[in-house]
Amino acid sequence: MDVMGIQQKEIDETRQGEAYAPFKNDINSYKKFFYIESYGCQMNFSDSEIVASIMNTEGFGATPNFEDAHLILLNTCSIREKAELTIRKRLTEFKKIKESKPGTLIGILGCMAERLKFKLLEEEKLVDMVVGPDAYRSLPALIEEAEGGQKAVNVLLSRDETYADISPVRLDSNGITAFISIMRGCNNMCSFCVVPFTRGRERSRDVQSILSEAIDLFNKGYKEVTLLGQNVDSYYWVDEQRDEIITFAKLLEKVALISSELRVRFSTSHPKDITDEVLHIMDRYENICKYIHLPIQSGNTRILQLMNRTYTREWYLSKVDKIREIMPDCGISSDVIAGFCTETEEEHKDTLSAMEYSKYDMSYMFFYSERPGTLAEKRYEDDIADNVKKRRLQEIIDLQNKLSQDSYKRDIGKTFKVLIEGNSKRSDNDWMGRNSQNKVIVFPKENFNANKGDYVWVKVNDCTQATLLGEIVQH
Ligand code: SAM
Ligand code: SF4
Repeated sequence: MDVMGIQQKEIDETRQGEAYAPFKNDINSYKKFFYIESYGCQMNFSDSEIVASIMNTEGFGATPNFEDAHLILLNTCSIREKAELTIRKRLTEFKKIKESKPGTLIGILGCMAERLKFKLLEEEKLVDMVVGPDAYRSLPALIEEAEGGQKAVNVLLSRDETYADISPVRLDSNGITAFISIMRGCNNMCSFCVVPFTRGRERSRDVQSILSEAIDLFNKGYKEVTLLGQNVDSYYWVDEQRDEIITFAKLLEKVALISSELRVRFSTSHPKDITDEVLHIMDRYENICKYIHLPIQSGNTRILQLMNRTYTREWYLSKVDKIREIMPDCGISSDVIAGFCTETEEEHKDTLSAMEYSKYDMSYMFFYSERPGTLAEKRYEDDIADNVKKRRLQEIIDLQNKLSQDSYKRDIGKTFKVLIEGNSKRSDNDWMGRNSQNKVIVFPKENFNANKGDYVWVKVNDCTQATLLGEIVQH
C-alpha cells in the first residue's frame, strides 16, 4: 500500500524486491553466483544478509543481475494477500531465464515458503527449493539436492535457531546504519497475524553475540544500529557465565554503552511489553534514539479484544502519555488496520480519534487482509466490504498525512543533532541524515567540511510532506 509520501521503515515499499548488491569489499573471486530479492518487513532484509553470508561461505558470489545467476532466491512475505500475489507475479518473470539457461535454480525463502510448504512446489512448477526462515543453514545441502534434479524442501521451525554465530554480509550498504537481529519468532497470537505460524516460537539471541556484532560494526565505521525483532521488548536472555538476567532494557543499555558515538534504535515494540524501565533507559542515554514504533492496530477496545492485542484503548493511550511524560521530545509511529472483522463506523472513528490523541509522526496503514490459518480466519467472518475497508483506510491515511504535516511543521525553527547517512537523493550538493526522532533531514553541504557518518547540528527552516529541510549550524 502506497502511503503517499509518508516515511516507510519497517515495511519499506521503496525497498520491496530490492536485489542484493555485491559486497563492495569482497575480494574473493567466485565461479558461481546467486541473486537475492527481499520482500516484506525488515526482518527479511536482515535474514537475506545471513543467507548471503552462508552463500559466500559455500563459494557463491552475489550478483545484482539475475541473468548472471546460477541461483535465484526470493525472500518472501505472507503478511497480506497482496504480498504473496506480488511474489507469484515476479516468479512468472523468471520463466524465460529458466528456458534460456536450463540449470538455473529458483529458491523461495521466508514466510511464504513456511506457510505453503510443499504446496508451493505443486503450484509454482518453476520453483526448485522451498526453505523456511529457520532452515537457512541447510541451504548448501538443499542446493546440492536441487542440482541433482530433486525438488528440495526444508521448512522445519526451530525453538533455538538465532543464527547467532553467523556474521551477516551487509546488504546495501551505506556503511553508516545497520540492523542487528536480537530475537526471532513471536509468541503473541494477534488474531489477524500469520507471523507466529511462519516464524515460529519466540527466542532471544545470545547477548554476547549481539554485543560483538555491534562492536564489530562500530569498529568498521558504522554509527547507528537498529535492534530488530517482532517484539523486541520481550527480549530475555540468561547469561549463565556472568550470572546475569538480560531484559530488553539491560540489552539496550549495554549496546548504548559501547560508545556514545554509536546511535541505537529498535523495532518493533508491542505496547503491552514496553516497560517504564525501557523508557527511563532511553531517557538516560543520549545515543538511544528518542523514537518508538508502537503499533496500535485499532483505537477501539472491542476490536482490540477481537484482535487479541491484550490492551484496551485507554491502556494504550496511557502508554503514549507515559512516553511523553518521560521523554517529551520522543517521536512515535504506529501500524493501523482498517476494516477488521465486524468493525462498525463508530469503532473506526475510535481509531481516528486515538490517532489524533497520539499525534503519530507517521504510520504504516493497511486494510485488513484475511490470512489462512490465523485465529481471525477461524473465528470471525471477514465481513467488511472491500469498498468500505478502502474508504476507511483512505480516511486513516488522510488523517495521518495531516498529523505528519503538523508534526513536521512543529519542527521548523528547531535545531537537531543529525547523523549524515549520505548524499540526498535529489542532489549531490546536499546531505541527507536523520534526527533522533527518525525524521529525514536534507541540508546543503556548503560552508562546512562534513562527511558521511559525521554528526552535525542542523537548524530546520522548512519541510515537505515527509522531509525536513535545513542548514548546518554547527559541526
Ligand atoms: N510484530 C510487529 C507488531 O506486532 O507490531 C509487526 C508485525 S507485522 C510484520 C507488521 C504489521 O502488519 C502489523 O503491525 C499489522 O499492522 C500488519 N498486519 C499484520 N497482519 C495483517 C493482516 N492480516 N491484514 C492487514 N495488516 C496486517
Ligand atoms: Fe504478528 Fe502480533 Fe506477533 Fe506482531 S505481535 S508479529 S502483529 S502476532
